[in-house]
This record gives sequence, C-alpha cells and structure tokens, in this order.
Amino acid sequence: MPSNASNDANIAAAIEKWFQGAARELPWRAEDSPWGRLLSEFMAQQTQIERVAEKWTAMVDRFPAPISMAEADLNDVMLLWQGLGYYRRARYLKEASEQICSEFGGEVPQTVEELLRLKGVGKYTAGAIASIAFNNRVPIVDGNVHRVVCRLANEGSKGVNDAWTWDRATNLVEQCSSPSLLNEGLMELGATVCMSKNPKCHACPVQSNCEAFKNETQLDVPKPKATKSKQVEFHYAVLFCKQGKIALEHRSQTELWGGMWQVPTIESIRKLTQKEVSSHFKVQGKLLKLGSFKHTLTHKSIEFHVFESPHESAEQLKWFDVDSLSELPFANAQKKVLSYKELAD
Ligand code: SF4
Repeated sequence: MPSNASNDANIAAAIEKWFQGAARELPWRAEDSPWGRLLSEFMAQQTQIERVAEKWTAMVDRFPAPISMAEADLNDVMLLWQGLGYYRRARYLKEASEQICSEFGGEVPQTVEELLRLKGVGKYTAGAIASIAFNNRVPIVDGNVHRVVCRLANEGSKGVNDAWTWDRATNLVEQCSSPSLLNEGLMELGATVCMSKNPKCHACPVQSNCEAFKNETQLDVPKPKATKSKQVEFHYAVLFCKQGKIALEHRSQTELWGGMWQVPTIESIRKLTQKEVSSHFKVQGKLLKLGSFKHTLTHKSIEFHVFESPHESAEQLKWFDVDSLSELPFANAQKKVLSYKELAD
C-alpha cells in the first residue's frame, strides 16, 4: 500500500473514533495521570494486561506519586510487584522514581528525550508516555502496532526492519487529530481485534484500508519471529523449618528474580541426585521429597524439585518467622515451593 497522507488521515480517524467506543476499561485509563500511566507502562512490559490491571491499583494506592516511591524501601516495591515477573523492571521503576524527583522536580517529564533519560525507559515506553499522557505527536511501536501497520500495508511477509515500522507509525501520528487516541487505539486494535492468530477482520474499523485483508494474507503478515528453543534448568529447593521458623536466602539484584527471597535452592543445568542435593546443604541423612513442578519463562524452562529436610544443615542458614513471610517478596515459582508446606498466601 503506498503511504499517502490522505489514506493515513482516514486510517487514523477511523482508529481514533473506534477507540473511543471500544477501549477496554482499565484502571489507569479511568485515573489518567502521567504517573499512573508510567506505572502501567512499566508493569505491562511483557505481561498480560489482565494481570497488570489486578496489580496496578494496589501499586498506585501505595505509591500515589513519584516521591512516595522514591522515598520507600525497594522491598516495598518488590512486594507489590510479586506475580508480575521480570523483577528487574521493579528495580528500574524505583530508580526512575528517584530520577523524576532529583532531575524533574517530582513531575513525570513530558518529552521523549527527557523520558529516555529515565532508567528502564526505552523508545517504546518514552513514546507511549509522551503521546498518551501528554498528547505529544510522537509515534509508538510495540508488537501490536507492528502487526497492525504491517497488515494494513500488506508488508512483512518476509520481515520488515524496525525503521520501516517506526516510519509507518510516524506517518499515521502526523495525520491524526489526537496522538493519544491514535496510539492507544493502535495498540488496542492489535490487542483485541487484529490479533496474531485469529484477527477479527469483520469487526475492524480499518478493514476497507487493509491490504492484507484484500489479499487474504492476514495470517502471513507479518512473518512470525523464529522462536529459539528454550534452555532447560533444574532447581532443587529445600525447606528447612524449625519451631515456627523457616530458612530463606535473598537473591542478588543482578540475577533472575533479583532481590526476591527464596528457600535455599540449588540451580543446575543437569539433573542432580538426592545425595548431591543433601551434600550441597551439608545435611546428614535423607531429604523428604515433597513434589516437582515445571515453571516456564520466556527464555527458559525450569524443573523444580521440592524437598523438606528433617535434619539440621551444617550450613549457616538465615532464619525467619513463618508469620513474617507476607512481608517478603517471592517470585511465583518460590510461592509454589512454599505452598507445599501451606506457607504461601
Ligand atoms: S482488516 Fe483484519 S488484518 Fe486488516 S487491520 Fe483489520 S483486523 Fe487486521
């Protein structure tokens, strides 16, 4: 499809109009503050929107402004982040809140250039906040927008480069009435109508402008990204409990699930024998097997094996009151480990 200003203006107008009637009810849309939008963008990266909606209200209630997060303990942010995964984002969010206070007077900055200075903010997030929260005429491209613009132009059956997609998003935003409505509408269209496997073309506001629809190539465009095979790991978690206390470890900030807590766990790229697990924790005697489960992340698949030790460990363990577990953040996989002893909330 040749990009021309009048066609782009028609597409933009149709999406803006459609979005005003079709937008899903999401809590950050109702509140509509720059800080609330920034929180939602951090929380929504690679996470299902339904899960973000469940967590966002608690986050904004606890941290109603950048200053409240900047002055809080990182542990408090991590606690509310539990279940969202990608915990590095929570640390970046905390750092971004501190930058907003130290460099921008406590107000979320408005331009892409300023937003890009914040920790954890890339080109997409900066564009989303600048356009949606401040109605600046700047483009955004995420996976949903990429799919929609490729299909509208029937481009990308062999892949397109990022520059092409950003150019198309720029053409559209230059022709729209409201960058905020257009950009959020484009993302919403990709998420709820122009879905990857079963696009609902019959309900699409830009069907008459869509070259992929005309050529019946919706499912070939854009070309799906080649998926890498997942790395497999084996984690052996051992519950040491005594007199209302449980042994826990704190994960370092730089690794997977950084800053979260866990029961003592060994991570291995090969299967370990029970004897190897006992000897790692310096336990004399057999461990009690409680169960196993698979935990899948985007880049790896982890087999968890959960044990309880009826014996003391010769290791120096850190002990915590079982009653205080709700004050510590755990990743979902470790909550599942705790659930074997009914210790997870
Ligand atoms: S007509 Fe179909 S393929 Fe084209 S943009 Fe709409 S939903 Fe996507």
